[in-house]
Amino acid sequence: MNSDLPGYEQAAAIVAERVRAIAGHHHPRTEPVDLAHAAGRVLAVPLLADEDQPPFSRSTRDGYACRAVEASAHIALPVAGSTHAGEAPAGPLPSGAAWEIMTGAPVPDGADCVVMLEHIERTGDLVRLVQSRTIEPGDNIVSKGAQARGGDPLLAPGIALGPAQIALAASCGYSTIESFIRPRVAILATGDELVPIDAKPEPGKIRNSNAPMLATLVDRTGGVPVVLPASADTAGALDAALEQAIRADMLVISGGVSAGKYDLVEPALSRLGARFHFTGVKIQPGKPLVFGEIPQGERSATAKVFFGLPGNPISSAVTFQLFAAPVVAALAGGREAHPRFVFATLARDTDRKNKPGLTRFLPARCAFNDSSSELPQVATVPWQGSGDLAAFAQSNCFLVIPEDAGSLTAGATVRILLH
Ligand code: AMP
Ligand code: MG
Repeated sequence: MNSDLPGYEQAAAIVAERVRAIAGHHHPRTEPVDLAHAAGRVLAVPLLADEDQPPFSRSTRDGYACRAVEASAHIALPVAGSTHAGEAPAGPLPSGAAWEIMTGAPVPDGADCVVMLEHIERTGDLVRLVQSRTIEPGDNIVSKGAQARGGDPLLAPGIALGPAQIALAASCGYSTIESFIRPRVAILATGDELVPIDAKPEPGKIRNSNAPMLATLVDRTGGVPVVLPASADTAGALDAALEQAIRADMLVISGGVSAGKYDLVEPALSRLGARFHFTGVKIQPGKPLVFGEIPQGERSATAKVFFGLPGNPISSAVTFQLFAAPVVAALAGGREAHPRFVFATLARDTDRKNKPGLTRFLPARCAFNDSSSELPQVATVPWQGSGDLAAFAQSNCFLVIPEDAGSLTAGATVRILLH
């Protein structure tokens, strides 16, 4: 049974294939979004430069605008004028002269370089380039249109908007950005033991921590979480809950996918006509993960993608990030749907635990230290298994232990998944 399950790479490839299919035929509707609320939204149309950037030749230094051949002759040049940032372009620069200029100010016509203040000797109204320096045409100037020409596309549709893209949009005069409408992702926690966060759990009960965790992950990945009330472990309750959940664009269900007597999620999905891409992956934690689609028949051309995540909080988190996040990102119209794996140096040996054939993802903490020449250092966080939220909350990544690697030794270069 175990050997029939896909390994991590194979399962990821199955998801990637579905993600490509979604990206190919799914065209989310668009809406204008206020720039102040555009963080994390996905650009739906090309972002264009409204005019040349920079719109005028700009000095990048405080100093003196002049002609490079004249300055490099180290002769004293009279100061013919002055422009500071915010002033209209002035000039032209008379021949054999210099022009006082500040950072961000327009360079006067006729000047081809700016000598920085620190490289000037000034005597009264005369300035001279210090003997030890030379200067070339173009130095310390960004010419009009050097960054972009008016009308140039600066960002392509599908890019998620972060601080840099928002600043660029602002500089081009966009107060709203045409963005894709975010997919609605139903979050359905299942389990007889679950009580709401504001309830005091009776003996044997626990609070439903997966719903807010998954809502945070969905939001961060570009979706709108639609959190449904937790479902009891009965066929009737699950059928009713799934009927609600199927109205969303995608379903993320937690719990009830293991092999236990009360793990009723798979049969409930089957009753809705689900096709399963896989029902289990050779990873730990997260082995019982279920991935599939529910065809919509007449109702809609596109099937509803669902993930049944194992209920243990860390299993839910890791499987969401590895497999569900790329699908949410694709439904959001994004073009960057890959989990963020990076390399790090292992700071401490990992425990020797024989889980043959499983790729492991252990909660770990990675320190982005001050040394720029080295990879970040990573060490696992001691944990009591995949329900240990106290340990999970100390982590900022997962350490990847490849299939059949056994344990890893301090100093090794390892892969981590940032979370
Ligand atoms: P299950 O996948 O349903 O067998 O659940 C595995 C473990 O995860 C059990 O210990 C559950 O109590 C726990 N669990 C399931 N759902 C949640 C949830 N929504 N929040 C926190 N823990 C959960
Ligand atoms: Mg359960």
